[in-house]
Amino acid sequence: MTIETLTLGENHFFTNCYLVSEGKECLVIDPGFQPETVLAALEERGRVLEAILLTHGHFDHVGGVKALADATGCRVFLHPADLTLPPALSAGKLYYTDAFSDGQELTLAGLTFRVLHTPGHTQGSVCLIFQDVIFSGDTLFADSCGRTDLPGGSRYNMVNSLARLAGLPGDPAVYPGHGQATTLDRERKFNPYLRALS
Ligand SMILES: [Zn+2]
Repeated sequence: MTIETLTLGENHFFTNCYLVSEGKECLVIDPGFQPETVLAALEERGRVLEAILLTHGHFDHVGGVKALADATGCRVFLHPADLTLPPALSAGKLYYTDAFSDGQELTLAGLTFRVLHTPGHTQGSVCLIFQDVIFSGDTLFADSCGRTDLPGGSRYNMVNSLARLAGLPGDPAVYPGHGQATTLDRERKFNPYLRALS
């Protein structure tokens, strides 16, 4: 499985957009801005976009969705609990074609992954669990976790969601919505929010 990171919204939001592929077909996680940059990256690599996976509905993660979907006809997956986000936080009406649900196992672009509903940052936040890799959105960051003070946020839910992540088996790599990649063991050991759970 190949993972490429495009950091979009330069100089301001630095949202990690991930291109994930096993072969020609490709998944894009959180195309927050600059859909033309994502399209150019796909074209350069000869990839066909099968689906966009959204870790949550905040504007800095979904801004490029509609343009990419229009250009490629790809499917768009979102947890519908984020449809309750105020339009100002989701950049208007959220566009999606398929609903994520907790525990759902999906195979797209030849890759199988499981959906973990992890509310806290938003009500519809999810983490996507691939073999040996977690895409953690704005739930878990290296040394930190997502903010819980925006509408739809809940510190109580965040604690439960972080506990679910910490309880996953093994030491998968963690690719967050912002900042550097890490590993689950590193976060279990050093992340103050995970350490506070035990
Ligand atoms: Zn967010």
